[in-house]
Amino acid sequence: MSDSATATRPRVLTGDTPTGRLHLGHWVGSIENRLELQEDHDCFFLLANMHAFTTRSEDADEIRADTLEIVRDWLAAGIDPNRSCVVLQTEVPAIAELTWFFAMLVPFNRVMRNPTLKTEIDSKGLGDKYSFGFPMYAVGQCADILAFRPVYVPVGEDQVAHIEMCREIARKFNQVFCGVDPKTEDEDYEAAGGVFPIPQAKVGRVARLVGCDGKQKMSKSLNNAIFLSDTPKQVKKKMGKIYTGRQSPDEPGVIEGNPLFQYVDAFIHDEERVAELKRRYEAGDNLGDGHVKVEVADAINELLEPMRQRRAEYEGPDGDDLVIDIIREGTKRANDLAEETLWKAKEAMHLDFFPRDLGLGS
Ligand code: ATP
Ligand code: MG
Repeated sequence: MSDSATATRPRVLTGDTPTGRLHLGHWVGSIENRLELQEDHDCFFLLANMHAFTTRSEDADEIRADTLEIVRDWLAAGIDPNRSCVVLQTEVPAIAELTWFFAMLVPFNRVMRNPTLKTEIDSKGLGDKYSFGFPMYAVGQCADILAFRPVYVPVGEDQVAHIEMCREIARKFNQVFCGVDPKTEDEDYEAAGGVFPIPQAKVGRVARLVGCDGKQKMSKSLNNAIFLSDTPKQVKKKMGKIYTGRQSPDEPGVIEGNPLFQYVDAFIHDEERVAELKRRYEAGDNLGDGHVKVEVADAINELLEPMRQRRAEYEGPDGDDLVIDIIREGTKRANDLAEETLWKAKEAMHLDFFPRDLGLGS
């Protein structure tokens, strides 16, 4: 197999799990960076539908619907399918195969110590009843990433622990199967003969946007999200829910750690206005929480309005077909690259008995 599937531009991989629609946390944590990176990188955006089954295996219908909704959200947000690949995880078999290989390079206890998994078990109330596949998704995510041999992975802060494990697995594979010296600098692993680069997390300008419960991370699964597809009215209503504990417009308020002001900082771009709001809030100068919430909701609606319009193009009677065509095309290109990666990994593992052509690519 040749390297022709591999474009010359540096690559980027990231993705979202179809456990619901996309929200403002995705926007500030990862999507803004994706839009910037798609200008001069070869980007692969993964629909992690296999991973959705790890917590919602009885909701196959919803997972399918959410998969299409997430693509609509991406397109609405400005992801350009002519430049970037939209990839369906379950149609890229190399990812599942690499997951097995990688699972044998990482101790079970290392996976279970992953702080992101621990937090998810708590916040999603999984107790001790979660499937065997649930912790496996952390290893699967390493395969999602490394199948594309990317330089960057744009993610929110909650994912950094996963990327760290991915970097450990990439180093280990290169050391065990390609004979790369463990003292090699991360950026030199490929030049030293490794199959995999050591990819870097690229965290967004807001690393962890709090949800409108004012407590937990905004999350699809926690009923605290403002979705990119919400109507102006829904945005206003949800902003209204943020609880700051302050009683009246004349009470001096606290900015530090105040969830409402995380939204002010994230979504109001007029710096002078932000400074003015903070000054009056801290001084108790007749500025109520309700007023600040309305200003933030207006700023969010201004951001979302062009997305609502772009989204409408993919919501008509042919909407699903258009979206599925985009997924099909992106997944073909993704398979060219992922099959190439798998072959390189098999060569390194002395599993290159004969090449295969599953007819998956373009
Ligand atoms: P789930 O509740 O199913 O875990 P989620 O809302 O956490 O969903 P994911 O699909 O797990 O969303 O995450 C997709 C990407 O968005 C990841 O890179 C993640 O770090 C980022 N992200 C998610 N929520 C936030 C947030 N509140 N702030 C910043 N980044 C976020
Ligand atoms: Mg998550």
